[in-house]
Amino acid sequence: MRKLATIRTIADIKPIEGADSIECAIVDGWTVVVKKGEFKVGETALYLEIDSWVPTRLAPFLSKGKEPREYNGVSGERLRTVKLRGQLSQGLLLPFPNIGYEGQDLSNILGIQKWERPVPSQLAGQVRGNFPTEVPKTDQERVQNLVKEITQAHAKGLLFVVEEKLEGSSCTFFLDREGEFHVCSRNLDLKRDENNAFWRAAIKYDIEAKMREFVLNGYAIQGELIGPNIQGNIYGLSDIEFHAFDVYNSITGNYMIPADRVKMIGEMGLNHVPVVAWEKDLSTGVVADLLELADGPSKLGKNPMREGLVWKEMNGGMTFKTISNAYLLKGGE
Ligand code: AMP
Ligand code: MN
Repeated sequence: MRKLATIRTIADIKPIEGADSIECAIVDGWTVVVKKGEFKVGETALYLEIDSWVPTRLAPFLSKGKEPREYNGVSGERLRTVKLRGQLSQGLLLPFPNIGYEGQDLSNILGIQKWERPVPSQLAGQVRGNFPTEVPKTDQERVQNLVKEITQAHAKGLLFVVEEKLEGSSCTFFLDREGEFHVCSRNLDLKRDENNAFWRAAIKYDIEAKMREFVLNGYAIQGELIGPNIQGNIYGLSDIEFHAFDVYNSITGNYMIPADRVKMIGEMGLNHVPVVAWEKDLSTGVVADLLELADGPSKLGKNPMREGLVWKEMNGGMTFKTISNAYLLKGGE
């Protein structure tokens, strides 16, 4: 689970050229525009990450005098990536008493939700059950929250495969130990239904037969579903597509290493997410530099600006995502 609301230490304060009343506060890999003098280096504050749905009572000024919006019955606003006086600003810093909550997620206590785009009906489907407990849900940590880990990995000279991060909906195909085939959305196991986009992909690519042919009992193939009506279909596709990005063995509890995964997915005749680079080092080991590498064109469809990249250690282990700030500023999610 993403920690949306945490107490963090102000690592640095930087001026903004030409601005008298605002400045930048740095917390971990995040830069937030704040009122001048409100925060000091070394002090702690409450940091709310982008995509937090912030209740009006916590930060009424977010509505800028307008009627607050509503999400799941809570009036408030969503934190987006913005530019203020030409300066990128992500998230919100609020003064907060430091009473020993450092590192803990305070979203529940503060009533903060993660904003998510409403699920279109053709994606929702009929629930067969909960997401299989034997398989991890797909997720990636943002590089901005991994400053220490990146510094250490850089020092060790770790090498990564760099994949394009596709903007769609997470999809898991799972052939369980008993030979039962499951089609799952990000959080649910779905009933067979030819109108459901996840099942349509399973049928289109003949996933069940292919998993049986490769004797993948106990394995899950996880990937991104992209196409019409999914997250704005930035690729401009006219039909649904599935692109694999992980293969998980639920019997051993291990992910297949990237090179083996790409090879097997190819042999199965399935799409893999585009691989941007093999054996890539962490360049300078500075988060801001890694974020810059996230900007670029997608290798799919009409080659729109890509959402970002996902870095995965060559031999398994560390993984993280870098979302393109150019993409976010353009209104991407
Ligand atoms: P987010 O979309 O910000 O929640 O980031 C995590 C999600 O990125 C995962 O749950 C996947 O659905 C998706 N994703 C897209 N491309 C990749 C990729 N190449 N590797 C891993 N996850 C990916
Ligand atoms: Mn996503």
